[in-house]
Formats: sequence, structure tokens, C-alpha cells
Amino acid sequence: MTYDFLVIGSGISGLNFALDAAEHGTVAIVTKKELMESNSNYAQGGIAAVLDSHDSFDAHVADTLTAGCHINDLEAVTLTVTHAPAQIQKLIDIGVGFSRKKEILSLTQEGGHSARRIAHAHDATGKEIERALIFHVRQHQNIHIFESHLAVDLLMQDGVCKGAEVLHTEKKEIELFRAKATILASGGAGQVFERNCNPSVATGDGIAMAARAGAEIRDMEFIQFHPTALALEGKPTFLLSETIRGEGAILVNAKGERFMESQHELKELAPRDIVARAIYAEMKHGPVYLDITHRESAYIKARFPYIYEQLWWYGIKMDKDRIPVAPAAHYTCGGVHTNLKGETNIPGLFAFGEVAHTGVHGANRLASNSLLECMVFSEQTVPTAVAYVQDVEHVNHVEIDSRNMVYKKTDIHAIKKEIQKIMWEHVGIIRHENELKKTLQKLKSIQTTLEKLQKEGKNEMLVETKNLADVAILITKAAIERKESIGCHFIAD
Ligand SMILES: Cc1cc2nc3c(=O)[nH]c(=O)nc-3n(C[C@H](O)[C@H](O)[C@H](O)COP(=O)(O)OP(=O)(O)OC[C@H]3O[C@@H](n4cnc5c(N)ncnc54)[C@H](O)[C@@H]3O)c2cc1C
Repeated sequence: MTYDFLVIGSGISGLNFALDAAEHGTVAIVTKKELMESNSNYAQGGIAAVLDSHDSFDAHVADTLTAGCHINDLEAVTLTVTHAPAQIQKLIDIGVGFSRKKEILSLTQEGGHSARRIAHAHDATGKEIERALIFHVRQHQNIHIFESHLAVDLLMQDGVCKGAEVLHTEKKEIELFRAKATILASGGAGQVFERNCNPSVATGDGIAMAARAGAEIRDMEFIQFHPTALALEGKPTFLLSETIRGEGAILVNAKGERFMESQHELKELAPRDIVARAIYAEMKHGPVYLDITHRESAYIKARFPYIYEQLWWYGIKMDKDRIPVAPAAHYTCGGVHTNLKGETNIPGLFAFGEVAHTGVHGANRLASNSLLECMVFSEQTVPTAVAYVQDVEHVNHVEIDSRNMVYKKTDIHAIKKEIQKIMWEHVGIIRHENELKKTLQKLKSIQTTLEKLQKEGKNEMLVETKNLADVAILITKAAIERKESIGCHFIAD
């Protein structure tokens, strides 16, 4: 199978790129489950953009830098912020139904933002954007969609990326997808941690594949822990969007006391790392609750229909009950390093979205800047990738050792759980230098076991678990190297 562009991943960034690139050549989208299944599909809060005359690009840039502790790349931040209003218009043009008050876009508030600047589709913004993008992608003749196709490794020849080795998870066969340009849009790595609010697909495959191929990986120590995920025994770690706090919800401890007032001037809307650590500390004395019961029932049901319904299934009435919450791994700020045009250090390999490190987020991501980054950088990459493809005359016939293409079933569920548990306990919200070093040794030994198993044959769980181990090692090494506490990297000693 040979294409001009091979896009790995069908979240918002991959679909947005595919639509634009398809005007210039053939596109294959490989995605490991159904087209819709991605972090993008679960994004609740919205997408940040300066859309109000009282707001300004300078304020959005300043808020992004404050959240990122000023180690962001200013050029990348400015590019993202100034392109935001046009991206919202682009989404409206393809049919995204953002919430409105009469004719005007309804803008909500999130933590760390000094203005109401979050465009949203009720409380299920990602699903609505995915729906609109998929509608157009499915109609484009130049786009070929491969669901249940898990990219295993990049096809490399003389230091150049020529496509990917892909496992068809239904046929249980490994296929080679050759391409002039290969695009990583495979999202983040929340599944590395036991307590996370990412879907099961978020196993950091793109970061692991790129690292194995020699790509530069940066800032992996910065894993954002969302402060408020549901903490109900036996129930999923369901995310409770920051917009609930943006619309007035408060955090209270087991005694019913509001504790964020003494922690930060922005109280419940302080940057996420601060709120997450405050909740984590309070939890030593008992459960912590999110409380929006002071707002009108009709308002809550209309503003948060998706969250209201999900909580109802779990036995909680959001308008009457306090909601037990605890932090959970949420967003991978680091990743495959790219320039502002989506290029990595490997010719033929491009990256954007959560898999990439562009410098936008610095030490901590500002809420609702990630969907925005996905849109801006996937669009920025189109002209670069198109020019690259036009320069490649033909795709060489790249072969791989047939022993690497054997499918073999193995049960490694326990190893996956072990990686997730040790990462949550030792490389989580609060880190200790000694524990990080011991954890690294443990992870390396798990990695060796998984490497041996892969030599006998591959399967989807083995590929993903090996990627989890690889990414866990990248995170732990980066955490050891970063000596000072900054943003979402917090060293206790
Ligand atoms: C619960 C939740 C709420 C969020 N809310 C917001 C919000 O309100 N605002 C905001 O800005 N951000 C939010 N985020 C973050 C945001 O959703 C993500 O950062 C963003 O959607 C990432 O998009 P992406 O295109 O980079 O990757 P994703 O949307 O994660 O898509 C990655 C795709 O790659 C596929 N894939 C992965 N590995 C492979 C492989 N090996 N082979 C083939 N396919 C593969 C996956 O199946 C998936 O289709 C939220 C995230 C979560 C989890």
C-alpha cells in the first residue's frame, strides 16, 4: 500500500490535516479502533480563542505563559493564539455547532484564563468537532480510512521515514504502509498512569515509535494531572470539566470547608497543577468534593447535559449531590519535538497534536489550548508536508525482516497494570528523587522482558504495553533530569 501521506491517528489533528492534505495527494488514515475513538472525542470544556472585544491576544499569550511557567516557546504560543479566531471560523464553516446565546458564540471560563474565551458545544465539544470532521473526511475521494489498524513501528531507510508497519487487529496480520510523508497524530500517553481520564487508545504509541526511530523527544516530565476526575469506588475515572468550576462550582474537603481560597488568588480556577496538588494534600485527611448545587437545577442540566447524564448513571445527581473527585493523569505536555511547521528531526516524519512537543505548553498546559494547538499545527504542517511529498519522486520498496511480522497471542495484562501502578505511585503528582531512580531500574527490567516477548511474535496488547514501558522510561528519565519543581513536575525533596 503506497500513499502520498500516511496519517497515524484520527483525532482532531489527524482529521484536520487529512482534509487539507487530500487536496494535494492520496491520504491513508490508520487508526487503532473506530475513527471516532480518540482523546479528542472526550474533550468536554472547549477550545480557547480571543473572540470578545474586551479580550486580547496579549492576554491569551500571557495566560498561556503563566500556566507554562514561562518556559514555553514564545513564537509557538504567539502563532497559536493569533491563529485561534480563524480556526474557530474554519470549524463553524465545516458545520461545528458551537453553543450560542441568540446569534453570539457563548464563551465560558476555565482555570488560568483571565477572560471568558472558551468556545464550546455544550459540554461535549470534542465529539461535535470530530463529528463534523469525520462527515467531510468520509466523503473525500482521496482519503482512505483504515480502522482497527495499529501502527507498530515506523519504516525507516537510511535515516528517512518511509511509512509504517501496521497490525490489522481484526485479521491479526502485519501489513506495510509505504508513504512519501508519514504524519504522527497519535495523541498522548495518559494510560501510562493507573489513575487517568484518557480512553484506552492513549498509550503513547507515537512517542515510543518516534523515539525508537531516533526522533528528538522533549519535556516528557510534564504530565498534566487534571484536578477533578470522578473518585467513586468501582466507577470510571470520568473527567469533570474545569468549566464546571468556571461556572461557579467550588471544592470542599471532608469537613465541608472550601480550601482553595487559602491556596491561590484565583481559588478553584488556579492553574491545574496547583489545584491538583491542593486536592491531593486534602485527600490525606478525607475525600474531596466538587459542589455546584448552589446553581439552579435547570441551568446545570442545560449547560452540562453530557456530564449530568453520565453522573446520573453513576448514582450522582449533579444539581443535588456533591461529587467526589480526585486528580488523574490527563495530558502529555511533552512529546516528539517539531518546529513551527510540524517537521521533526527525521526527514519524512511530521507530528502535531498531543503526540508533539511544539513548545506551546511549557511546563503546564493552559486549559482548552490543546484542541487549539491541534487545529493550528495540523494546518501549519500541510504546506511543509505537501512540498516534501512533491520533492519525493517515488517511494522505495522498503522491506522488513519477516520474523518481525509474526502475530502471537500473549497475556501480559498483569505487566500493563504493574507499569501503570508504579508510575502513579512513584512518578505521579508528587515525586521523590530516590524513588524516581529506583522506578527507572524497575521499568528497564520490565522493558527487557517485553522486548524478549516481542521477538516471539506481536499482538496489540504487547505492542501497546511495550510502548507504555518505553514512554514510562522517557517520563521517568526526564523527571530525574529536571531538578527543580516547575509546573506539573513537582519534586518533594
Ligand atoms: C476527557 C478529556 C477531556 C478533554 N477536554 C479538553 C478540552 O475541553 N479542551 C482542550 O483543548 N483539550 C481537552 N482535552 C485534551 C484534548 O482532547 C487532546 O489533547 C486532543 O484531543 C488530542 O488530539 P490529537 O488529535 O492529538 O489526538 P487524539 O484525539 O488523542 O487522537 C489520537 C488518535 O490516534 C490513534 N492512535 C494512537 N496510537 C495509534 C497507533 N499506534 N496506530 C494507529 N492509531 C493510533 C487513536 O486511536 C486516536 O484516533 C481533553 C482530553 C480528555 C481525555
